[in-house]
Amino acid sequence: MIKQRTSDGMNHRITLGLALAFAIGSTSAITALPTMAAIDVAETTISSEAKPEKTSRPTEWDLRDLYPDIASWDAARNDIAARITTLRECKGKLDKSTAKLRECLDNITNSYKELLRLYVFAYLAKDTDLGDSEFRERASIAQTLLTQLGEATSYVNPELISIGEERLSQVLEKSDALKDHDFYIKNTLRQSKHILSPKEELIIAASADALSASSNAYEVLTNAEMPWPEITLSDGTTARLDASGYSKYRTSTVRDDRKKVFKAFWDVYQNYRQTLAITLEGQVKSQVLIAKLRGFDSALQRALADDNIPEAVYRALVSTVNENLGSLHRLVKLRQRMLNLDETHYYDIYPSVISLDKSYTLEDTIDLTTAALQPLGKDYIETFTEAVNKNWMHVYPSPAKRSGAYVMGAAYDVHPYVLLNFDNTLESVSTFAHEWGHAMHSLMANHSQPFSKADYATFIAEIASTANEVLLFDYLRNNAANDQERLYYLFKELSQIRGTFFRQTQFAEFELAIHEHVENGGALSGDKLNVMYGDILKRYYGHDQGIMDIDELYTVEWAYIPHFYRNFYVYQYATSISAAYFLTDKILNDGEQAQQQFLDILRAGGSDYPHSILLRAGVDMSSPKVYEAIIRRMNRLMDEVETILDKQQ
Ligand SMILES: [Zn+2]
Repeated sequence: MIKQRTSDGMNHRITLGLALAFAIGSTSAITALPTMAAIDVAETTISSEAKPEKTSRPTEWDLRDLYPDIASWDAARNDIAARITTLRECKGKLDKSTAKLRECLDNITNSYKELLRLYVFAYLAKDTDLGDSEFRERASIAQTLLTQLGEATSYVNPELISIGEERLSQVLEKSDALKDHDFYIKNTLRQSKHILSPKEELIIAASADALSASSNAYEVLTNAEMPWPEITLSDGTTARLDASGYSKYRTSTVRDDRKKVFKAFWDVYQNYRQTLAITLEGQVKSQVLIAKLRGFDSALQRALADDNIPEAVYRALVSTVNENLGSLHRLVKLRQRMLNLDETHYYDIYPSVISLDKSYTLEDTIDLTTAALQPLGKDYIETFTEAVNKNWMHVYPSPAKRSGAYVMGAAYDVHPYVLLNFDNTLESVSTFAHEWGHAMHSLMANHSQPFSKADYATFIAEIASTANEVLLFDYLRNNAANDQERLYYLFKELSQIRGTFFRQTQFAEFELAIHEHVENGGALSGDKLNVMYGDILKRYYGHDQGIMDIDELYTVEWAYIPHFYRNFYVYQYATSISAAYFLTDKILNDGEQAQQQFLDILRAGGSDYPHSILLRAGVDMSSPKVYEAIIRRMNRLMDEVETILDKQQ
């Protein structure tokens, strides 16, 4: 529900685990994603001076839309705490009658809805003043209540399953009494064969801590204990190469410097590769074990089961990308031409090939975004325009404010809140368009669906936001003042496609390979992982065809990617950007019908399985077509680059 965009340009989603937990074995009330150091979309830089601007519109959000004052928050908190106690009274009674079942489910969802509102207030207040311990405490109180709600209602799923599919289907068919809850019931029953006996569930729950030891060890080792090297750059600067130093200095325009950065940084990972292989193998083995215990054929099958995503989606993504690696090689060659190099090495993929000195005010940004989003239609624009003029955004950075950007759409009866750290750069403009995609998605889903069906799956969550960015770049490129500016936008978009589409699919392919290796009885040593990762990396970048030279040293990159501890998460970055390109292409070419299909996806919220919602809108994520759309776009962008470059010669 909270979509968070980080400074490295990739988007994280923080999910408030529903008390009525959809995910089998999900116990955490709130799960934050690790920092996305692995995502590297920085390819172009923009220099600008942030300048103070005068604007008459509100630039700070008004939390009084949630609660008029603290006393009301306190009263709501006491009320919810009391309600949670009464929710236990339904235990053992869900099969009494349809009316009773409905009453209980209504009470649970209403309590959850009010609790989210309570949580949102504290969370937002805390995020604009991180030094404030009062709101930190209140957020933690709300989080504890979320856990209590989860515990108090943990009987619901087992009871629904014991009532059985036959009886529940009859009830759903005969009356509308449970219509707000029908998808929830259907989804719970779908997963019933993977829910074990109460005693077995207890054993799995009790072993959760022990099974997470590998990922905890990885986190501590890579964040705190690895000895990061210091190097001296060609201008005399001492550079400390921890994760953020590496992200910064690898973009150096001095080739010898970035070569030095790569050497020093990856040497450290090589030195620790056996330990890091043990932590990764531990993680993979845990996932394989849980999948087996729950009766799944594989870890991939289990991971995709939560959102009922067909395996064909994952496989279609990986195979279509592999068939189109020629487009990635073409991009490498184009960058080589721009950087004036004789040959490209892996350390050459990060520096900018072009810069642009331009800055944007908030008013410019709103005007640009409004113009860019016109293809989404009159209704969308009207709703968007009305929303940006309200005090729903916290726009500018301030000393104790949380960094990055996100949208909080969890206060169902209120409206989404948008946190930005606007700094006049083009990055700020695209973040603005991105976050407002999330906000519009929440707004439309909340408007069209009952609370119980409004929250949408992660698989679908990044489509509206990415589509907005695609439309923004289309507009910027078409309205560029000159070829230099157009080239800048072209490379910006191309680097996004490399980082989000190719690189994340490359990770997804590796992730599947290591799980299948363990499932087939194989072991994962540091050297084995280097070989497996190196083979994929070299294939993606055309090492054997002489497109890019990949030094053996860098094949330890697998050890640097925290997402391999997130159980088949990364592929969704690639599927989301593909769906966004596929849909925006359709909107730009087919007009109104495609526009309505796009808006139907947003309005559908979480009323069905994400794959079904997309299928109804004409987007079959298990077909190569969706992935071919982004490749086609990429090739068109590269055609444009070549035309400009040929003209300049
Ligand atoms: Zn996002």
